[in-house]
Amino acid sequence: MKIEFRSRRDFIRTTGIAAASLPFLNILSSRALAADPDKKIGFALAGLGSLSTNQIAPALQKTKFCKLTGLVTGHPDKAARWQAQYNIPDKNVYNYDTMEKMADNPDIDVVYVVTPNALHAEHTLKAAKAGKHVLCEKPMEVSVAKCRQMIDACKKAGRQLAIGYRLHFEPNNLECVRLAREKTFGDLKIIDAEFGFKIGDPTQWRLKKDLAGGGPLMDVGIYALQATRYISGEEPVLISAIETTTDPVKFKEVEESILWQMKFPSGVVAHCSSTYKVRGIDRFTAYAEKGWFGLEPAYDYTGIHGRRSDGVPLDLPLIDQFAAEMDDFAQCILENRPTKVPGEEGLQDVKILMAIYESAKTGKAVSLV
Ligand code: NAD
Repeated sequence: MKIEFRSRRDFIRTTGIAAASLPFLNILSSRALAADPDKKIGFALAGLGSLSTNQIAPALQKTKFCKLTGLVTGHPDKAARWQAQYNIPDKNVYNYDTMEKMADNPDIDVVYVVTPNALHAEHTLKAAKAGKHVLCEKPMEVSVAKCRQMIDACKKAGRQLAIGYRLHFEPNNLECVRLAREKTFGDLKIIDAEFGFKIGDPTQWRLKKDLAGGGPLMDVGIYALQATRYISGEEPVLISAIETTTDPVKFKEVEESILWQMKFPSGVVAHCSSTYKVRGIDRFTAYAEKGWFGLEPAYDYTGIHGRRSDGVPLDLPLIDQFAAEMDDFAQCILENRPTKVPGEEGLQDVKILMAIYESAKTGKAVSLV
């Protein structure tokens, strides 16, 4: 069963992409693809760190419409290992300074940006300049202005920009969206959403403000925020937040834990939290007039399952979320249709994340209307 997050009208309203403006996307690549109906979309991975190594590259091998054709890395030794493992020729290997030369390389259709958060704009802009579509990891960037630059650059290049929101393709999360939209338990009232883990290595970029943009909120709290948005189907209008740090040496630049509350236009309220201090917090529950439903774990790569207050199982088959996300983006390009996780969706999250930090800093509620 296919469940969309939104109606087409809602998509257009949220993203600001009018139907009439869609055909300009991908005209060139559509022509090229029409000439070769068996062509798979070529993906170059920019950033060969933990996520690319352990999730994305293995997932690419399971896709129907994609293949790993290129690499962008600052480490020639890493490139050599990846080339041997995935059979990638020298001509498809770039570093961050040579990315724009991809313009001459028809093997690469999409650049998947998997670098630290504050480098996403730089790498997206280079990919767009080379005429490539971009799939960019979450969070989209560390400021609203940089998100807007990314959207503008891809529009100018006539290329699609998608954000790596893998849970928009995950069956149990989609089932919760269906329960909310169909009001199976009546009108929604309260959502609790939390995601955190205990962070290790104190020298990693996730603890550096200039590369991460913030702490657990930017990294995993964004999933709790996303859950409140896709379950409610609404955008928050009022936010209040507090943050706390018990280890000021390790968490010198970013918060250790953060809690925030949001009010939505219908009156739904959300309690959320995120932390780098405690392991194993990964859940959401939606409380409605006649019952509740939720997932725990809710946001993991695997193992997602849930419960409903009426005892009906909430345990749909698990999928490779990265393969689903990449296949969907490839199909959007092949069929010349918009992604359901566009840059505008990433921008909206970053706007809200910034409001959460503002409230935590000032001690005052922040209005988003
Ligand atoms: P990582 O540290 O393991 O990898 C980052 C890569 O970027 C490395 O290969 C590193 O060499 C490269 N890099 C390029 N310039 C760099 C610089 N100036 N400083 C540091 N590294 C630099 O990180 P990761 O866990 O792979 O995360 C990468 C991105 O993916 C982040 O935006 C993160 O939020 C996102 N992510 C998403 C998910 C998900 O489930 N969708 C999971 C993990 C990470």
